Amino acid sequence: MRAYVIGNVAIDETISVSSFPQAGASLLGREQSRDLGGKGANQSVVCGRCGLPTTLIAAVGEGFRSRMIQDQLAREPIESELIRLSGVASDFSIVFTTPDGENAIVTTTEAAESLTLDAVLRTLSKARPGDIAVLQGNLSEAVTRGILKTAREKALVTAFNPSPLRSYFPDLWPDVDLAFLNKGEAQSLTGTDGEAAARKLLAEGVRQVVLTAGGEGATLADRTGFVSVPAFPATVLDTTGAGDTFMAVAIASSALRGCDLDERALRHASAASALTVGRCGTRSAFPTEQELAGILAD
Ligand code: ATP
Repeated sequence: MRAYVIGNVAIDETISVSSFPQAGASLLGREQSRDLGGKGANQSVVCGRCGLPTTLIAAVGEGFRSRMIQDQLAREPIESELIRLSGVASDFSIVFTTPDGENAIVTTTEAAESLTLDAVLRTLSKARPGDIAVLQGNLSEAVTRGILKTAREKALVTAFNPSPLRSYFPDLWPDVDLAFLNKGEAQSLTGTDGEAAARKLLAEGVRQVVLTAGGEGATLADRTGFVSVPAFPATVLDTTGAGDTFMAVAIASSALRGCDLDERALRHASAASALTVGRCGTRSAFPTEQELAGILAD
């Protein structure tokens, strides 16, 4: 089984600030890290470090950031199918972090939104029934819809993380097998939260729903009922990538055991995310292959 993560790749420029900037304000900050990021890259790197065969399909543009992206991806245990675009800058994020570990992120998506369906399908043509297509919200609407439709035709399992939020996401649920949402996403997309939000998504056709709630833990919902797991204790330094770590480890844990998402997969994901929130940066904060092997063996 292989995971095909189709999404964005970016360089995260993380700046620590004492509080988030308000309109019209000039703030002093300190560069904290410059690291590989982007939700697609994050999820693929963590899946690959778990030992699940993983392919990242993403677009890179021109400039020094595209070289950084290629260098950093080359050090990861994944296959990178990078579509090189000319006349477009590689995507990047400005991440503000405050001393309590909260973050606010602005991401450019010019490269991600220029990715064409044809380019994605050239690589996805290698996928076999039962492989997993993992998607987030950074691609164009047409490409996101086209990938989900193709994944259905090819009998792939589809996993979707509706972030960043887009207005068309509620149409997609019938083509989504596994949905991962944080509290804000659940509220925006269903008008409610907790178990009520999960029930709405299950009624729309999602097979398994995972709701994450930061330090309060996470809940899995499917036709057999609800299972909640607590967050693992952590000293929070920077929550960037916590949700991506959680989703990738939950998927890899169940895929490597040949089963659906279950309580054990959520426990593995919680343990891994607690490591991510305790470290600064994005890729450099993710659990290592050795750490993940220990977590997944439990
Ligand atoms: P982000 O956007 O910061 O990557 P998210 O908003 O998508 O994350 P969250 O629900 O904040 O997702 O966090 C995902 C998981 O990370 C949680 O379910 C939990 O397991 C872990 N986590 C997040 N915050 C904490 C914390 N303060 N302590 C321990 N674990 C945490």
